[in-house]
Amino acid sequence: MSEIFSKDGMFDMKIGILTIGNELMNGRISDTNASFIAREANQQGWSVEAIMSVGDDFAAIKNRLDYLLSMTDAVICSGGLGPTSDDITTEAIAKALNLPLYTDENVLNYIKAIFTQFNLRWADNNAKQALFPQGAEILPNARGTAPGFALSVNGKLIFVIPGVPAEAKLMVVNGVIPALRKHFPQDEKYIVKQTIRTFGLSEAAVDNQVKDIDFQSLGVSIGFYPVFPENHIVLIAQSKNLQEAQKNLQKAQDEVSAHVQDYIFAYGEQTLEEVIAALLIEKKLTIAVAESCTGGLITSRLTDVSGSSDYLERGLVTYSNAAKISMLGVPAEIIEKHGAVSEETARRMAEGVRKLAGTDLGLSSTGIAGPTGGSKEKPVGTVYIALADSQKTICRHYAYRWDRKRNKDIFSETALFLLKNYLQ
Ligand code: ATP
Ligand code: MG
Repeated sequence: MSEIFSKDGMFDMKIGILTIGNELMNGRISDTNASFIAREANQQGWSVEAIMSVGDDFAAIKNRLDYLLSMTDAVICSGGLGPTSDDITTEAIAKALNLPLYTDENVLNYIKAIFTQFNLRWADNNAKQALFPQGAEILPNARGTAPGFALSVNGKLIFVIPGVPAEAKLMVVNGVIPALRKHFPQDEKYIVKQTIRTFGLSEAAVDNQVKDIDFQSLGVSIGFYPVFPENHIVLIAQSKNLQEAQKNLQKAQDEVSAHVQDYIFAYGEQTLEEVIAALLIEKKLTIAVAESCTGGLITSRLTDVSGSSDYLERGLVTYSNAAKISMLGVPAEIIEKHGAVSEETARRMAEGVRKLAGTDLGLSSTGIAGPTGGSKEKPVGTVYIALADSQKTICRHYAYRWDRKRNKDIFSETALFLLKNYLQ
């Protein structure tokens, strides 16, 4: 997920993130702490200047810490606070800053009490978690044994928090952010945000569509978040005046909407299936689904919305030709002549399931998810989506180019998007 904020001097404080652990360097885990911290910092309107990861190594930690301190006001480090010998972060930070270590008796007693409470065997290396560099302000850990700490060095702040994601999150929200706000007081400003959810344009195409909009003069930043197969546009406005922030955000939203109108399905956090649910309920329509290549995904997504029984009558997975013929009444000759993946079959499937279920609408999918089964005329990624009502049946053909899983995802999204357009 990419997150590109145009900065233009709007963000005051500069933040560096340093995640520490050999497991990050050998790819055993992905760095979710860094993305969490970055999101939180962005929410505050701060600028994340760099995110670095490093192994459990004294020289490397000092090197990256120095680098991050050279360009930021505060560095947030996570990981390596545990009792084992490979957890060296506290020692490494102390060494890098030339600070002696001391044992905090309160913390030591607290850790010992936890061991007693849970009947754990005490080993002397657990005392390591009560060691802190001189001058550290201790950040309590509500979830685990290892507290974090904050240091103030030459007007800059350094935070060291645990690696365990649940512990790290709590400490960022309850310890790090409040401490940063206190230490670097900023003019009170309002940050308002709007998400515009689109489908059907690539990330680059969305960017291209909105490139002539003057966001800077509106004091608005724009970010692009591809959430396959959708692309979400996030607008953030900041101002000392809430009304002004909201007005600017609305203006930016109107401009963006005018440029990508046909591809927008929701503003805010609503999902495509939720938009469809609201429309079906509003129009008092019922639907049934017949799926081939999507294997039930369309129906599954429709049922992700609570209350879907009000409009969804049934969903059939008619994967084989026999099922299409016997369950939906698709004429064998149609499949024989045009193939199971064809406009004619898709139409008959939608009409068949509508009739069978006695619903207002029938929706169908038939296609080739791959990686095998494609041909020159009908390559992998080919899909036909049909939608039948009492008057007519519409059918569209699409050609995608993804792997099997992504093809299924985009096929189902395409079907739902077609349905949404019909309902609107
Ligand atoms: P503890 O005191 O609980 O041992 P710690 O500070 O020593 O915590 P680590 O030993 O570095 O933390 O990591 C603990 C767990 O947290 C590991 O299992 C690892 O999978 C996870 N973890 C560490 N760093 C990150 C990170 N940057 N993003 C996501 N998970 C992480
Ligand atoms: Mg550890």
